[in-house]
Amino acid sequence: MRVCYFFSVIMLMHAYICFGDTAPFVISEEIMGTTVTQTIYGPHADKVAREASSRIREIESILSFHLPASDLSRLNNHAGKGDIVLKPETMYNLQKSIYYSGLTNGGFNVLVGPLVKLWKVTSPDADIPSAGQIAALMPLIDYRDLHVNIESGTARLDKKGQMADLGGIAKGYASDEVIAIYKKRGITKAIIDIGGNLGLLGFKAKDTPWCIGIQYPGKDRGNPACAVYLSDCSLSTSGAYERFFEKNGKIYHHIIDPSTGYPADTGLLSVSIIAPKSIDSDALSKIFVIGADKGIALIKRIPNTNAVLITKDKRIIVTDGLRHKFKLIAADDFTVQFK
Ligand code: ADP
Ligand code: MG
Repeated sequence: MRVCYFFSVIMLMHAYICFGDTAPFVISEEIMGTTVTQTIYGPHADKVAREASSRIREIESILSFHLPASDLSRLNNHAGKGDIVLKPETMYNLQKSIYYSGLTNGGFNVLVGPLVKLWKVTSPDADIPSAGQIAALMPLIDYRDLHVNIESGTARLDKKGQMADLGGIAKGYASDEVIAIYKKRGITKAIIDIGGNLGLLGFKAKDTPWCIGIQYPGKDRGNPACAVYLSDCSLSTSGAYERFFEKNGKIYHHIIDPSTGYPADTGLLSVSIIAPKSIDSDALSKIFVIGADKGIALIKRIPNTNAVLITKDKRIIVTDGLRHKFKLIAADDFTVQFK
């Protein structure tokens, strides 16, 4: 029997998994600007993994904010010029994004694109923009200026210079698409991880859920602060500790607070959302922007959805639905609050 040791078997971006008795097929690739790891059990796993990889690449080519030929870039280049016909994938992600922009009162904001471009947090020459540069873009980021018409398959951005960015939701969507491929190909046990958006198919073993570790923010990868026991669902983590630059001792990370134009600073280090689908957990992990109190209140109103929040002041806030599925690991450093 293979030793099932909690966090040593496979290291993912924000989460660690222990596997069961038979060896899975595992492949890691760089797609969508992040690491994509597939862990698939059963025959023909390699073939299924290839099909899933090409679907993720296809989704990237459609939804990328950075690729000039993507469908999303077509929309952005058409800003202020009326309606444009878009692919079904783009329409679906835009529609979901508008929904979550409203639900989070603009914490998740699909029109944050101009600010993301200005901050370019992940580029080697990232720097703090001037207050004037940020102020100049604020009139462009009202998500109510994005209109989608599902019947005609069209969308429009009201003002020139506006840009939709699906970076906060598209990896979740891709993870859902991969799970759909696994199911279609008869796979009953697998994990897809797209940059911290996990899709979990089936159980680790009969009646035994997967044990997913949540990264201890600021520590080297492979150090979980806590873990959750899950099956057949998705888990997405957004954090201030993976993509950032540092200037004058201060961290500037990639989740922008649309109400200020600056990286969100609400006392949180990471937000993990557990939901049936990853498109939803990815978008909802942006409650990072609205902070713990409002964020938890929102998550508690959504059926089958839970959250694990790690705060700067060393608390781990966990929604009640996870009370029997949660395990604290870094017990010396954190206190746990169920809400
Ligand atoms: P990752 O890109 O590592 O998956 P997240 O899921 O946390 O990280 O999403 C962060 C990305 O979402 C940013 O890189 C940017 O493209 C986009 N984004 C930044 N701020 C917001 C926001 N307030 N609302 C929606 N999307 C955002
Ligand atoms: Mg994400």
